[in-house]
Amino acid sequence: ASMGRVAVVTGGNRGIGKEIARQLGAQGIVVILTSRDEEKGERAVQELLAEGHRAALHVVDIDQADEAERLMDFIRSEYGRLDVLVNNAGVILDQGISILDVEERLIRATLETNFFGALRMTQAAIPVMKLHDYGRIVNISSGLGAFEVMDGSLDPGFKLGGVSSAYRMSKTMLNAMTCLVSQEVAGTGIKVNAVCPGRVRTDMGGADAPLSVAEGADTAVWLATLDDAGPSGGYFRERRRIAW
Ligand code: NDP
Repeated sequence: ASMGRVAVVTGGNRGIGKEIARQLGAQGIVVILTSRDEEKGERAVQELLAEGHRAALHVVDIDQADEAERLMDFIRSEYGRLDVLVNNAGVILDQGISILDVEERLIRATLETNFFGALRMTQAAIPVMKLHDYGRIVNISSGLGAFEVMDGSLDPGFKLGGVSSAYRMSKTMLNAMTCLVSQEVAGTGIKVNAVCPGRVRTDMGGADAPLSVAEGADTAVWLATLDDAGPSGGYFRERRRIAW
């Protein structure tokens, strides 16, 4: 029997990532959940297995330069294919801090995970996706990284100012990367899109966020399973295109 589709979800041990893994698993996709902590990752995998999904753990700290390559080498030899990459792992380190005060080291640490981590995974994944000329890459971004939010043009009454700027600029770079990669793979079977999950009840989103993890995962899962006619190089929320 041929191996079914294979997906990698980074930061799959909790929050939106774990829910994306669950929803992909429910579609019969083999999910390799990555976690930087073995114990937390193993607990999440056991939870998915108990629900009847096909899931496995690979310990990856996406801040480490060679770990994406190591993961993709393993996937190539173990499964021979990679169909879906969800770049979900992310951190917010400067919540409430103004762009005028934020320390450079916080910006660097944020970019390391939210931007470079996703870039490394993408660079390592594409050669494996090319083996079968099929791939769906989903970058979990945030509406806070959109220019129409940053320049105040979306809603002048919405006074967010320059807070959480390291986080937001990391998502702007992730968005830019989405566009550039999509142009590089145009004409192949690989699609790459960015998504804003909305405000979701997780450790990051907080207990008073409006959306459940199931709602927050929905558009990412839709993008991860697009058919050949689906979009590439787009930015989505609630399955609809939004402005960069
Ligand atoms: P959580 O804080 O609940 O989970 C973040 C996940 O990322 C954890 O699994 C965490 O692992 C992992 N992670 C962080 N740094 C690394 C690293 N260096 N290497 C590997 N894994 C890492 O966040 P959410 O589930 O809420 O967020 C998921 C994504 O959605 C993020 O990219 C976030 O920016 C985005 N998002 C979330 C929103 C929300 O309202 N919740 C709104 C908009 C965007 P560990 O458990 O080890 O820390």
